[in-house]
Amino acid sequence: MSAIQKVNLLGLSPEKLIEFFESIGEKKFRATQVMKWIHQKGAESFEEMTDVSKKLRAKLEGICEIRAPEIVEQNISTDGTRKWIIRTEGGKNDCVETVLIPDGDRATLCVSSQVGCSLDCSFCSTGKQGFNRNLTPAEIIGQVWIAIKSFGPMDPNGPRRVTNVVMMGMGEPLMNFEPVVDAMILMMHDNAYGLSKRRVTLSTSGVVPKIYELVKRTDVSLAISLHAPNNPLRDELVPINRKYPIEELLEACQHYLDNLPDKRHITIEYTMMAGVNDQETHARELVGLLKNLECKVNLIPFNPFPHSGYEKPSNNQTRRFQKILADEGYTVTVRTTRGEDIDAACGQLVGDFHDKTRRSQKYIELREVSDQS
Ligand code: SF4
Repeated sequence: MSAIQKVNLLGLSPEKLIEFFESIGEKKFRATQVMKWIHQKGAESFEEMTDVSKKLRAKLEGICEIRAPEIVEQNISTDGTRKWIIRTEGGKNDCVETVLIPDGDRATLCVSSQVGCSLDCSFCSTGKQGFNRNLTPAEIIGQVWIAIKSFGPMDPNGPRRVTNVVMMGMGEPLMNFEPVVDAMILMMHDNAYGLSKRRVTLSTSGVVPKIYELVKRTDVSLAISLHAPNNPLRDELVPINRKYPIEELLEACQHYLDNLPDKRHITIEYTMMAGVNDQETHARELVGLLKNLECKVNLIPFNPFPHSGYEKPSNNQTRRFQKILADEGYTVTVRTTRGEDIDAACGQLVGDFHDKTRRSQKYIELREVSDQS
């Protein structure tokens, strides 16, 4: 155990990294140099930073570190999907998942923001395990770092290993606001990962006040986990709706779009559960509900898990639902399956806290979301 708590530079936003260097009496450009070494070249030690003076390297060694979360397991699917179980700083059982889905010339990374979740959506096993802890910025951006490094040495001039990121893994990202914003800023920064703002998407269940804050801080793309076309049903499926009902949520979405510097749409995620929210009346309600919002709809047939209490709708029912929306001019995608072979392996590994159902859905859903870019 070291006598002093070293500062982990991996999770510092560009602004905070500059502040840190200034606080130790170093010039701003040193922060830029170090940021490039960490995020573009994947440096794990200060020794590797050959254009930084030996003296400064020794100084940094004494007071800071570059520490990514520990990889408990990495699995690669036959279809190229990669999945990691990552142990966070909270201890032995504080693990989250990160998944990378390659698709042609793009690869979308699904990033977690919390261990567990407090929002308790009725169809989500992460919600059932309750909230454990928020991830730090280093643990969030560390998932991107780990994914890129899994292909070998990082090369800023080489092919992009991660082209899209969706904050759609475990947890509600807007309930861990500052660390998530810091990490997303790094994802998009030219001296870090340089991803387009259209290719970084935050998915939320509807923490309305934070949507207003988000647009003041960043201009990533936004996805909403809607799952129901009316308040009584959404109150049941997504309990945060009792606090922030659909009308307030859609108003916040419109505000978000209106305050972006460019024209964008919202992605509406709709998990379909047989006999619950998959009827034609629900589709028609959804048509009316979304008529004024610039959006695309992503339908996700529910993937049942033991004791979930919900069933997957038939393909015919899903197609009927999709057609009603499409006939009204909506762009509607239905999820397809990826990475199922490693999904099973991972579920065994992380045992009871593993949100297998939601993950399976999200692996696919994120591909659809990433198509908006
Ligand atoms: S669906 Fe999202 S917000 Fe709802 S309980 Fe699961 S992780 Fe939390």
